[in-house]
Amino acid sequence: MTALLEARGVVKRFGGLTAVDQVDLSVGTGEMVGLIGPNGSGKTTLFDCLSRVLDIDAGSIGFNGADITRYRPHHVARLGMSRTFQLIRVYPELTVSENLELSIQWERMGMRGLFSRTDAATLRKVDSLLEFLQLARLRDERAGTLSGGQRRLLEIGMALMSEPKLVLLDEATSGVNPTLVADIADRLLEVNRNDGVAFLLVEHNVQFVADLCERVVVLNHGAKLAEGTPQQIMRDPAVIEAYFGAKAEGAT
Ligand code: ADP
Ligand code: MG
Repeated sequence: MTALLEARGVVKRFGGLTAVDQVDLSVGTGEMVGLIGPNGSGKTTLFDCLSRVLDIDAGSIGFNGADITRYRPHHVARLGMSRTFQLIRVYPELTVSENLELSIQWERMGMRGLFSRTDAATLRKVDSLLEFLQLARLRDERAGTLSGGQRRLLEIGMALMSEPKLVLLDEATSGVNPTLVADIADRLLEVNRNDGVAFLLVEHNVQFVADLCERVVVLNHGAKLAEGTPQQIMRDPAVIEAYFGAKAEGAT
């Protein structure tokens, strides 16, 4: 069986710094995988490599049966990989529904799509996602007026517009109040179970990952430190040390 996403030996350097160091990572069809690690351990950079926002210095990336190592980001999106960003990226001046419409036009057609008319199927998809994410009453509000948690939900909606096979979520719960975090977890599980969408979740909220994922990968200094079930990971002395060390550093 080949995985939906299969990254092998991925290396990304910024000058003298190796931000991602020989990382192997796979996500199976319909699987939910967590990616955790201290601040600066390379999680976002690895996402940028996988979604082809950044060129890699070594290694290969396979997705949905294709070697995407040299693909452009919107080609990867068209193959069925969507992502969100650690810093929220919605268009604050546009309405909630306009943000959803625009996201799919970008993924489908790149720049050219941004200037084409929205078709009826897209509008139906917008309506169903607004209902699903419980954002329907906010559809005509400008995205800039939403709370942090609502904006995260909108971003997840934007990532789901293209009916992807895999969604990469970068810190979907940061700045979100606990009630809404539980809602986000429920929505993700529902999309996973009903539509078979696979997720790779970058999180600082380890409990959120433990609740959703059967498998967790831990990065430290750009390299894979550990991999296993949430229970195995949380008991792993090397993982505890990496987190404890990072926290102690942050406290000084
Ligand atoms: P994480 O998401 O795990 O917090 P990042 O992937 O953001 O970690 O960062 C990994 C390392 O790469 C950090 O040391 C960070 O400072 C560095 N880094 C990230 N992006 C760049 C960049 N564009 N240029 C130079 N260094 C970068
Ligand atoms: Mg990050």
